[in-house]
Amino acid sequence: MKRPYCDNCKLIWSKYASNSVKNCSKCNNQIVIKTFYPELKVIGGIIIIVIALFTLLSADSPEIWIGGFLFGGSLIALGMEQSSTINKLDKDAAPNIPKQNPKEKKPDANNTVITCGKCGCKINVKTGQGILKVQCSNCLGEYRVRS
Ligand SMILES: [Zn+2]
Ligand SMILES: [Zn+2]
Repeated sequence: MKRPYCDNCKLIWSKYASNSVKNCSKCNNQIVIKTFYPELKVIGGIIIIVIALFTLLSADSPEIWIGGFLFGGSLIALGMEQSSTINKLDKDAAPNIPKQNPKEKKPDANNTVITCGKCGCKINVKTGQGILKVQCSNCLGEYRVRS
């Protein structure tokens, strides 16, 4: 995912800002468009640690595996941190798309909601059908309503 990035102050913008941000808001530097792969850092870190583990088992050079663990560990930490920073940026900047709840019916002009006189349940009735017999699904009481 391409996103704006300031080389000078290491600021990253959300992917939604790709076209709108031209200059850094902090240092006014020219923004570059860069692709970030924080996952690759994490994977690379894991590979380095695995290699370091093999070095630990096979060779007697502690400086290699200690260095490997430190480098791999910091790479993973860096990748995870960058990944969460980027995710948060995108989440905060995400355009407000109204969530559609398939379960919840939109208020419909063709429907009217009546309340059951016995149990207080809400009953949906189609409008424009004259006098209708409706049954409360909860207490099974029957009503005649004008729709
Ligand atoms: Zn900057
Ligand atoms: Zn009822």
